[in-house]
Amino acid sequence: MAEVSLKYPEVKNYIAGQHVANGQARMDVLCPLDGSRLSTLPMSGAKELDEAVKAAEAAFPAWSNMPIKERVQIFYRYRELIVANLEELAQLVHEENGKTVGEALAEVKKSVELTEFTCSLPQIVPGEIMEVSKGVECRTEHAPLGVVACISPFNFPHMVPHWSVPNALALGNCVILKPSEIVPLSAIRMADMLKEAGLPDGVFNVVHGGKEIVEAICDHPNIAAVSFVGSTKVAKIVYKRATSTLKRCVALGGAKNHLIVLPDAHEEMAATNIAASMSGCAGQRCMAAAAMVGVGAVDHIVDRLCVEARKIVPGENLGAVISKEAKERIERYINEAEAAGAKVLVDGRNAQVEGSENGFYVGATVIDHVTPDMAIAKEEVFGPVIVVIRAKDVDEAIAIENSSNYGNAASVFTQSGGMAREVMLRASAGMVGVNIGVPVPREPFSFGGWNESKFGVGDITGKSSIHFWTQLKKITTKWNPEARTNWMS
Ligand code: NAD
Repeated sequence: MAEVSLKYPEVKNYIAGQHVANGQARMDVLCPLDGSRLSTLPMSGAKELDEAVKAAEAAFPAWSNMPIKERVQIFYRYRELIVANLEELAQLVHEENGKTVGEALAEVKKSVELTEFTCSLPQIVPGEIMEVSKGVECRTEHAPLGVVACISPFNFPHMVPHWSVPNALALGNCVILKPSEIVPLSAIRMADMLKEAGLPDGVFNVVHGGKEIVEAICDHPNIAAVSFVGSTKVAKIVYKRATSTLKRCVALGGAKNHLIVLPDAHEEMAATNIAASMSGCAGQRCMAAAAMVGVGAVDHIVDRLCVEARKIVPGENLGAVISKEAKERIERYINEAEAAGAKVLVDGRNAQVEGSENGFYVGATVIDHVTPDMAIAKEEVFGPVIVVIRAKDVDEAIAIENSSNYGNAASVFTQSGGMAREVMLRASAGMVGVNIGVPVPREPFSFGGWNESKFGVGDITGKSSIHFWTQLKKITTKWNPEARTNWMS
């Protein structure tokens, strides 16, 4: 039977500056917008990883010896390349992930901002120096770790690799990226553009595949550190396995973000922010609003939220979810909540987009009178769905937020400064917002949650990444206080 042609060339691993052909089993890369086949990728294993590690080890001495000010020159050029190719990169994210073109453009622009932070590293990374007693100086240096690995999820194919890779590289490490097997295409463009910007071969490598390659990364004796972003289930596996082989690891997991809405909240501001937060990227953001905890008389805000949710149209201002399985999972959660007595006010089940009948769409969904014991209130749905849980007062609302196993983000909507402060201080989450639906800390602040949304010390981006990707060398120097100063004579 004739092979249907693929939109993009077959994905290959990128090792030592080359796209290398490989004979492993291959998996299809599907476009969530219409179910079409975009490409195929190799499901690599320990052998391919080892080739990448060897290439990275060979590149490490020269790369780590280069002054950081020289290394970041490559990232100034890389930033320009991203900016010059914004539309093309966004189109690729749109096709492989299913988010709208506008959302994909915002994602790639975020990669630009992350790269700008990388360019600023020489200004913030210098160590400290002090004369600790007469003629004796102590100073510190941030030394790279060696070969490190970054493992990323499907929901931000371009941005999440940029959380880790540019900083790890600029700080002198050699990197192996393992992108999500569901969205491998943006990583190829990243490799090509880094090479075009002047990155020496072997400094950055990409190995494609799934579970097998992740396990091989955790086990490899010559990988010093691993950053992971994905679900909590896998974050736990990776954190335990990587640290059991004495690697440094930061593993970001899933989320269930609560927005606590007080009756005095600005109606339009609250409703539009909540609707955008729960539906942006089809709800497939670890910072998405998942539960609105309405305190007291908030019916007017729920009504307005429904008005805003009905303006969200699949295929227009709402992208696809990642797969058929994801669509079925999300709809199953809605069915179960309804069967348990919750009230579906805006129903996104069975969404269809004309001309894209094979796409994986779920419409924006608002479900009221969900109780904290329901699965949809506790588990990560990862779709354009918001549940409304009613609370009699702020204490009860905070208790509901605090009872979550997760702790990525939380927000409060109110016009009272005192109430906002109360929630800010008592929310059990790493990133907290006031009157904002998606409280992502922008650079130079760092990104990372609490509880089961993150395992490991420190955050993944911003200043925190300097400590993660380097080790401190403490140097003590003794100078002779009696030294002759008239040596010219
Ligand atoms: P995932 O955990 O399924 O996959 C993440 C990575 O782990 C992929 O590269 C995948 O190949 C690998 N993997 C999958 N199963 C594995 C296994 N059993 N053993 C070893 N490796 C395995 O996550 P996903 O579905 O790609 O992404 C969505 C999840 O990521 C959501 O839970 C979302 O909240 C989370 N996420 C969190 C953040 C954050 O900052 N906390 C950011 C983005 C996404």
